[in-house]
Amino acid sequence: MKIAFFCIPAHGHTNPMLPVAAELVRRGDSVCFYSFNEFRDKIERTGAEFISCDTYLPKVDEEEMSRLMSVSKTEMTLQAIRTTMNMNDFLEEEFRSFQPDVVYTDSVCFWGKLNAWKHHVPMVCSTSTFAFNQLSSKYMKQSRAEVKDMILGLPKISKELKTLRPYGYEVKSALALVANDNQTDTVVYTSRRFQPYAESFTSHYQFVGPSVFSDLLPQKEKPRPLIYISLGTVINDRPDFYLACIKALREMDVDVIISRGRYMDEKKLGTLPDNIKTYERVDQLEVLSRADVFITHCGMNSVSESLYMATPMALYPQTDEQNAVARRTREIGAGILLDDDSAEGIRRTVKTLLSDQKYAKTAKECCDDFRSCSGAKGAADFIENAPHSCDEVDPIAEMNKVNKIWSILFPIFATLIGILLGVHVSWGLGITVGVILGVLSYPLNTCVQKLRYRAVIRKLKK
Ligand code: UDP
Repeated sequence: MKIAFFCIPAHGHTNPMLPVAAELVRRGDSVCFYSFNEFRDKIERTGAEFISCDTYLPKVDEEEMSRLMSVSKTEMTLQAIRTTMNMNDFLEEEFRSFQPDVVYTDSVCFWGKLNAWKHHVPMVCSTSTFAFNQLSSKYMKQSRAEVKDMILGLPKISKELKTLRPYGYEVKSALALVANDNQTDTVVYTSRRFQPYAESFTSHYQFVGPSVFSDLLPQKEKPRPLIYISLGTVINDRPDFYLACIKALREMDVDVIISRGRYMDEKKLGTLPDNIKTYERVDQLEVLSRADVFITHCGMNSVSESLYMATPMALYPQTDEQNAVARRTREIGAGILLDDDSAEGIRRTVKTLLSDQKYAKTAKECCDDFRSCSGAKGAADFIENAPHSCDEVDPIAEMNKVNKIWSILFPIFATLIGILLGVHVSWGLGITVGVILGVLSYPLNTCVQKLRYRAVIRKLKK
């Protein structure tokens, strides 16, 4: 088979696709991976053909770059739309010459998704976070800045989307581009147990567990505990936080490894005590296999890898997506939220994670659960057999049916009650009750939707 891989230029999105590419190549499939020079080496190591797309990345000015570095969703969307336009002629030619049987694309890689639709090639999405729908997205606590960025950004995005239409890309809204529905074949790199509201996803979603290159097993025996610290590969220029960690842990009887990332000058951390080492980058899975506590920014890959290696976590999320991952990790009991990031707060959290065995025990249970998933092999099977059909009931569609009925019946009901009270008691009361019912319409609708959802799930489980 011929399979075209597409991903955005980000390690967290690219990494889980690599073992899948290697597995498909091993089976004799022909894999072309459309990516960026920074990832060339690791992509070529899978045996896939690397195709560089760097020349199609739009030039960004300083202001745009700083918005990208602060993970502005609007800026990322605008840049992705521009990249899609820049790549149009090139991908037109690639689809004609390579003629892929399936497109495997990161779920926020617009040029992969849009070209699969345009060229009518079966598509499977790779989701490097949780699978999100209207239920699981409630896990994301959006900061005011993020909400403001999105609201102010919508008109700009709609305008930019219009420029795609003349190229044959039919796209209604940015949401339609980003969101995967229950009809889209999607690979998710976690287990159904760890996924919030897992039962709301149909079998178009394949939960394969962490997709990693590692035969290592957790190996925790050593003279003293090891604490590993990383804020991932994107927002990691945080000398203030590393200094607080160093202050917290220097006097403790522990070893510490800090992966500080490539943006930070090591000198900013001063002279380090013997028990603390910092690196630009480490082999994270190897370090996690030995670590007893991971202080993490809660990127989906980092948390999955930590659980895969049975390491409990101090959770220090920086974005809404990371908040969702932190919330779920806390909920299952494999980590503690680091809400006080002072040296004292960090020391207290690490001590609790080391002394209270329940965190390590839960992390070990997650490790067993993840290792029982189908992994890269399962993802490869799913891709080779795409498109998938599924005749299950879609719980989200069922839940939303209530919305439609509600939006017709409830206003009629509220108006009738208002009129009845107006005629028989007083118009003042009628209008007041009408207005109160109007205000209550939304929360009541949410309750009715939840009840409907639970009924559908109960029926499905029977
Ligand atoms: N990573 C690594 N070495 C490091 C730091 C990070 O190999 O020193 C890898 C890590 O194993 C993970 C990815 O980089 O696969 C980070 O992805 P994640 O989703 O956790 O966070 P992001 O970098 O996207 O914020």
